[in-house]
Amino acid sequence: MAPQTQTIHIQHQTNRVLPEPDVCIHTSHGTRIPAHSSILASVSPVLENLIDRPRKHRSSERIIQIQGVPGGAVAAFVGFLYSSACAEEEMEKYGMHLLALSHVYMVPQLKQRCVKALTQRLTTENVVDVLQLARLCDAPDLHLRCMKLLANDFKAVEATEGWKFLVNHDPYLELQILRFIDEHETRKKKSRRHREEQGLYAQLSEAMECLEHICKEGCTDVGPYDAVAERGRTPCARFATCRGLQVLIRHFATCQRRASAGCVRCKRMWQLFRLHSYVCHHTDSCKVPFCRQFQLKMQQEEMKDDPRWKLLARKVASAKVMSSLSLPKRKRDEEMRVTINNPGIRSYKLL
Ligand SMILES: [Zn+2]
Ligand SMILES: [Zn+2]
Ligand SMILES: [Zn+2]
Repeated sequence: MAPQTQTIHIQHQTNRVLPEPDVCIHTSHGTRIPAHSSILASVSPVLENLIDRPRKHRSSERIIQIQGVPGGAVAAFVGFLYSSACAEEEMEKYGMHLLALSHVYMVPQLKQRCVKALTQRLTTENVVDVLQLARLCDAPDLHLRCMKLLANDFKAVEATEGWKFLVNHDPYLELQILRFIDEHETRKKKSRRHREEQGLYAQLSEAMECLEHICKEGCTDVGPYDAVAERGRTPCARFATCRGLQVLIRHFATCQRRASAGCVRCKRMWQLFRLHSYVCHHTDSCKVPFCRQFQLKMQQEEMKDDPRWKLLARKVASAKVMSSLSLPKRKRDEEMRVTINNPGIRSYKLL
């Protein structure tokens, strides 16, 4: 029994008065879609080629076969060629078919829409199918999104029918995915380590700033930044660092074990003084203890060129830049002004 033929007329909204359709699209399920060759040809270069092909009989009706996808998907596709639009329900139902059609018939605007829609609808259930389609249709953004979802939620994907099918039929793709997951894990670990390091450098950078103002103003009252300022003095914004540092300085001044170099806390304070001296650009007027002594010592020993200290100073400086970028805008503006007006810091950034 021959399949029942159904004709779908595309509802096109256009101001132009269109002539009678001069081409008919045939789909696998017997659906017939009358259309205008001029419109199809103007949007899809592939359809343009098909239409321009000489026909056997001049009089015979022009027919374009679009097989292998549901008739409804073809109708949505043709509708897009007319209106550059596609209803959400059509996307929901035929998103994957439309991506394939947009790729085969080279309609980049539709391809973009499909990539976006499929990305939004990505789940652990459909990700394997979408991934394979993204590969076939040369959609790198969608491909990457699929890979990331796979990597982040592999346990759930592993249990799906789609994954089991892939393992049995496409060992090469399976290998590629497993390798990506492996690299993804390594990247995540690396970036975690990087964040931890950045946190450390940011702390050091804060400590450098607090060290300067503590030594300039004497040990200041520290309190949470939003506490009411006493005697018109605003508490330091870097409350935790500042308090820790002030406690450390007081300890350093009175520690009995310092002389024998056996105190860990004093050793840390000593290193902070040394780092300060390394990055300090106004040694002559600087009030931070040992600043001059360290600088003289460094000049004598040519330590200024020590690559490890150079690297540390550069990282501390860049942590300062990073943290200033993450401050709220008003605060950032203030910081910028301070930075620009302070020639010491400006050249310090060049380190
Ligand atoms: Zn402070
Ligand atoms: Zn000590
Ligand atoms: Zn100094």
